[in-house]
Amino acid sequence: SGPDPDLPIVAERLRNVRHKILILSGKGGVGKSTFTGQLAFALAGDEEKEIGVVDIDICGPSLPRIMGCEREEIHRSAAGWSPIYVQDNLGLMSIGFMLPDEDSAVIWRGPKKNGLIKQFLKDVDWGTGTDNTLDYMLFDTPPGTSDEHLSVVQLLRGSGISGAVIVTTPQEVALQDVRKEIDFCRKANVPIIGVVENMCGFVCPTCHGESRIFYPTTGGASALCKDLDIPLLGSIPLDPSIGRACDYGSSFIDTHADSPAAKAYVQIIHKI
Ligand code: ADP
Repeated sequence: SGPDPDLPIVAERLRNVRHKILILSGKGGVGKSTFTGQLAFALAGDEEKEIGVVDIDICGPSLPRIMGCEREEIHRSAAGWSPIYVQDNLGLMSIGFMLPDEDSAVIWRGPKKNGLIKQFLKDVDWGTGTDNTLDYMLFDTPPGTSDEHLSVVQLLRGSGISGAVIVTTPQEVALQDVRKEIDFCRKANVPIIGVVENMCGFVCPTCHGESRIFYPTTGGASALCKDLDIPLLGSIPLDPSIGRACDYGSSFIDTHADSPAAKAYVQIIHKI
């Protein structure tokens, strides 16, 4: 088959999106969506900036909850689909808005997923005027490398991906899968912005001592990054209030600004 005739349409639609960033993880449950949501809130803290989040974790869309806009409905106009606005300058497009209820499972095959991702890229009116200008477009992807990743990388070829951030936990099994993500990025020519190590250590609220929960000897992520010549953007400790903030759809960085986890997030976000 020849080149996809929709590629130039996607490229034209996204021409004025300055930074397109993929958030990847080798495994599920490492905190990728949480990170995407917190990054989006933090970037949108600058009111001059326009932020769009595209949730292509089609089988497990969790950003509507994390960003506090569950059960909203997507509207269509002549200009295209309107994302759900979490704030004036922060829009979210997610398959989660199109499911009949939050417990529905999506079981779709590759071509249908590809079709939906294409629509997210070419038919969304980000509400910033006819030129569809955005400062950042963040893509929350499923764990591993699957149809969704290939689709998004191919579809964005014409307009360019700024880079990928890979989220992992310190466990050896998770780190092994990070290598696969890095390999995917290198083969697909996606620049790697860096690795975020999440759930790294726990500060006991009673004794204030720090425990290394997953891996007593730490340093796995930093050794891997050194080995593969990739920046380690930082390490975020386990903090139960992160989960609570997400359950309420609020910005953890704002509500818990003084916590070590919020400080770690901020340091990482400055590097992106
Ligand atoms: P993924 O997108 O990688 O599947 P999620 O972002 O959904 O993972 O996170 C999985 C669970 O872990 C969620 O309940 C989330 O609230 C929690 N979580 C993520 N990061 C942390 C952290 N640093 N400390 C405590 N809980 C966290």
